[in-house]
Formats: sequence, C-alpha cells, structure tokens
Amino acid sequence: MKCRECEGKLEIHRVCRKICMKCNVCKKEYDICKVIQKLDHEIQKSLEQHSAAIM
Ligand SMILES: [Zn+2]
Repeated sequence: MKCRECEGKLEIHRVCRKICMKCNVCKKEYDICKVIQKLDHEIQKSLEQHSAAIM
C-alpha cells in the first residue's frame, strides 16, 4: 500500500491504543479507519499479528 503524498510505503504504526498507517518516507499518518477498505491481504495479515500482540 502506497502513500498518497509520495511513493513511500505505508507501515502500521501504533500510538497508544490506536493503530494508524504511517508513511516511511514523508511520515504522514493515515487513520486506519479511512484506509481499511483498501487494505490488501499483506497488510491485513500483519495487522492481525499486531492486534494479537496488543491483546
Ligand atoms: Zn508519503
């Protein structure tokens, strides 16, 4: 999944209890709720792993 502002890759970033997507190039943060419909399988898998780690 790519950043809309640049060609950077969005990575899952956790802030307190909130999970968001963060670009690793321009550091722009995206609300997970706004991008969740566009999540691909790769992201969903890693998100599940993150969620498991949080639980
Ligand atoms: Zn970016």
